[in-house]
Amino acid sequence: MRTKSKWSPGPGIKVQSVISSEQGDWVVSACGPESGICPDCRHQSRSRHGWSYRNLQDLPIQGSAVTVKLQLRRWRCTYRPCGRQTFTDRAPAIASPYARRTTRVAEIVGLLGHSTGGRPGERLMRRLGMSISDDTILRHLKRNAARIDDDPPARIVGIDDWSWRKSWRYG
Ligand SMILES: [Zn+2]
Repeated sequence: MRTKSKWSPGPGIKVQSVISSEQGDWVVSACGPESGICPDCRHQSRSRHGWSYRNLQDLPIQGSAVTVKLQLRRWRCTYRPCGRQTFTDRAPAIASPYARRTTRVAEIVGLLGHSTGGRPGERLMRRLGMSISDDTILRHLKRNAARIDDDPPARIVGIDDWSWRKSWRYG
Protein backbone atom coordinates (compact mmCIF):
# COMPACT_ATOMS: atom_id res chain seq x y z
CA MET A 1 0.00 0.00 0.00
CA ARG A 2 1.32 3.45 -0.89
CA THR A 3 0.58 6.54 1.11
CA LYS A 4 1.13 10.21 0.34
CA SER A 5 1.76 11.17 3.95
CA LYS A 6 5.37 11.43 5.04
CA TRP A 7 6.63 11.02 8.56
CA SER A 8 7.77 14.20 10.27
CA PRO A 9 9.00 14.86 13.82
CA GLY A 10 6.52 17.77 14.07
CA PRO A 11 4.34 20.27 12.20
CA GLY A 12 6.19 22.28 9.54
CA ILE A 13 9.34 20.15 9.91
CA LYS A 14 10.65 18.43 6.78
CA VAL A 15 12.85 15.35 7.00
CA GLN A 16 15.90 15.68 4.74
CA SER A 17 17.69 12.41 5.44
CA VAL A 18 17.66 9.38 7.72
CA ILE A 19 21.04 7.75 8.28
CA SER A 20 21.99 4.69 10.32
CA SER A 21 25.39 4.93 11.99
CA GLU A 22 27.85 2.02 12.36
CA GLN A 23 26.76 1.63 16.00
CA GLY A 24 23.18 1.04 14.79
CA ASP A 25 21.86 4.41 15.94
CA TRP A 26 19.69 6.55 13.69
CA VAL A 27 20.23 10.19 12.78
CA VAL A 28 17.26 12.08 11.31
CA SER A 29 18.22 15.38 9.68
CA ALA A 30 15.28 17.76 9.49
CA CYS A 31 14.67 21.39 8.62
CA GLY A 32 12.26 23.91 10.14
CA PRO A 33 9.44 25.86 8.45
CA GLU A 34 9.90 28.13 5.39
CA SER A 35 8.73 31.21 7.26
CA GLY A 36 8.67 32.46 10.83
CA ILE A 37 6.24 34.42 13.00
CA CYS A 38 7.77 37.20 15.09
CA PRO A 39 7.00 36.53 18.78
CA ASP A 40 6.54 40.27 19.48
CA CYS A 41 4.49 41.68 16.56
CA ARG A 42 3.13 38.35 15.17
CA HIS A 43 4.07 39.34 11.59
CA GLN A 44 5.29 36.65 9.23
CA SER A 45 8.85 36.88 7.92
CA ARG A 46 10.63 35.11 5.06
CA SER A 47 13.81 37.16 5.41
CA ARG A 48 16.41 34.71 6.66
CA HIS A 49 19.16 35.99 8.93
CA GLY A 50 20.97 32.72 9.67
CA TRP A 51 20.66 29.22 11.03
CA SER A 52 20.56 27.56 14.41
CA TYR A 53 20.96 23.86 15.13
CA ARG A 54 19.54 21.56 17.78
CA ASN A 55 20.31 17.91 18.46
CA LEU A 56 17.32 16.22 20.07
CA GLN A 57 17.06 12.71 21.47
CA ASP A 58 13.88 11.15 20.08
CA LEU A 59 11.97 7.90 20.56
CA PRO A 60 14.00 4.82 19.52
CA ILE A 61 13.43 2.75 16.38
CA GLN A 62 13.38 -0.97 17.21
CA GLY A 63 15.47 -0.37 20.33
CA SER A 64 18.09 1.78 18.57
CA ALA A 65 18.69 5.38 19.63
CA VAL A 66 17.37 8.18 17.39
CA THR A 67 18.79 11.70 17.23
CA VAL A 68 16.90 14.43 15.37
CA LYS A 69 19.34 17.00 13.97
CA LEU A 70 17.06 19.95 13.61
CA GLN A 71 18.11 22.88 11.45
CA LEU A 72 16.09 25.99 12.31
CA ARG A 73 16.16 29.37 10.63
CA ARG A 74 16.87 32.68 12.31
CA TRP A 75 14.63 35.39 10.82
CA ARG A 76 14.73 39.17 10.50
CA CYS A 77 11.57 40.93 11.59
CA THR A 78 10.71 43.11 8.58
CA TYR A 79 7.86 44.97 10.28
CA ARG A 80 9.40 48.42 10.91
CA PRO A 81 7.44 49.48 14.04
CA CYS A 82 8.52 46.25 15.79
CA GLY A 83 11.50 46.66 18.11
CA ARG A 84 12.78 43.11 17.57
CA GLN A 85 15.57 42.71 15.01
CA THR A 86 15.77 38.91 14.71
CA PHE A 87 14.13 35.80 16.12
CA THR A 88 14.63 32.05 15.88
CA ASP A 89 12.13 29.29 15.17
CA ARG A 90 11.46 27.49 18.44
CA ALA A 91 9.62 24.38 17.18
CA PRO A 92 7.49 24.29 20.36
CA ALA A 93 5.51 21.28 19.15
CA ILE A 94 8.69 19.18 19.15
CA ALA A 95 10.70 20.29 22.17
CA SER A 96 10.85 22.96 24.86
CA PRO A 97 13.35 25.78 24.31
CA TYR A 98 16.91 24.63 25.20
CA ALA A 99 15.71 21.03 25.79
CA ARG A 100 18.01 18.23 24.63
CA ARG A 101 15.22 15.71 23.98
CA THR A 102 11.86 15.85 22.25
CA THR A 103 8.70 16.50 24.26
CA ARG A 104 7.54 12.90 23.82
CA VAL A 105 10.82 11.58 25.29
CA ALA A 106 10.64 14.15 28.12
CA GLU A 107 7.15 12.87 28.96
CA ILE A 108 8.45 9.29 29.20
CA VAL A 109 11.39 10.46 31.35
CA GLY A 110 8.90 12.18 33.67
CA LEU A 111 6.61 9.15 33.89
CA LEU A 112 9.38 6.60 34.45
CA GLY A 113 11.30 8.86 36.82
CA HIS A 114 8.19 9.43 38.87
CA SER A 115 7.29 5.75 39.13
CA THR A 116 10.75 4.16 39.41
CA GLY A 117 13.22 6.85 40.51
CA GLY A 118 16.72 7.71 39.22
CA ARG A 119 18.83 4.53 38.90
CA PRO A 120 16.03 2.06 37.98
CA GLY A 121 14.69 4.66 35.54
CA GLU A 122 18.14 4.96 33.96
CA ARG A 123 18.38 1.17 33.49
CA LEU A 124 14.86 0.94 32.07
CA MET A 125 15.41 3.86 29.69
CA ARG A 126 18.69 2.31 28.43
CA ARG A 127 16.88 -1.00 27.85
CA LEU A 128 14.23 0.88 25.83
CA GLY A 129 16.91 2.51 23.64
CA MET A 130 16.92 5.93 25.30
CA SER A 131 20.14 6.46 27.22
CA ILE A 132 19.71 9.02 29.95
CA SER A 133 21.56 9.40 33.24
CA ASP A 134 19.90 9.04 36.65
CA ASP A 135 21.00 12.61 37.46
CA THR A 136 19.12 13.90 34.41
CA ILE A 137 16.00 11.95 35.40
CA LEU A 138 16.11 13.44 38.92
CA ARG A 139 16.79 16.93 37.53
CA HIS A 140 13.78 16.52 35.26
CA LEU A 141 11.60 15.54 38.26
CA LYS A 142 12.82 18.50 40.33
CA ARG A 143 12.13 20.91 37.44
CA ASN A 144 8.59 19.55 37.07
CA ALA A 145 8.03 19.75 40.84
CA ALA A 146 9.18 23.39 40.82
CA ARG A 147 6.74 24.10 37.97
CA ILE A 148 3.89 22.60 40.01
CA ASP A 149 4.93 24.77 43.01
CA ASP A 150 4.51 27.85 40.80
CA ASP A 151 0.78 27.16 40.49
CA PRO A 152 -1.31 29.33 42.81
CA PRO A 153 -2.40 27.55 46.00
CA ALA A 154 -5.89 26.03 46.12
CA ARG A 155 -8.52 28.42 47.47
CA ILE A 156 -11.39 25.95 47.76
CA VAL A 157 -11.18 22.28 48.76
CA GLY A 158 -14.17 20.00 48.30
CA ILE A 159 -14.58 16.91 50.50
CA ASP A 160 -17.09 14.30 49.40
CA ASP A 161 -18.50 11.29 51.28
CA TRP A 162 -18.11 7.68 50.18
CA SER A 163 -19.80 4.44 51.08
CA TRP A 164 -18.15 1.59 52.96
CA ARG A 165 -21.33 -0.35 52.26
CA LYS A 166 -24.08 1.17 50.12
CA SER A 167 -27.16 2.33 52.10
CA TRP A 168 -25.51 1.14 55.34
CA ARG A 169 -22.32 2.90 56.23
CA TYR A 170 -20.77 6.07 54.83
CA GLY A 171 -17.38 7.64 55.44
ZN1 LIG B 1 8.39 41.78 15.01
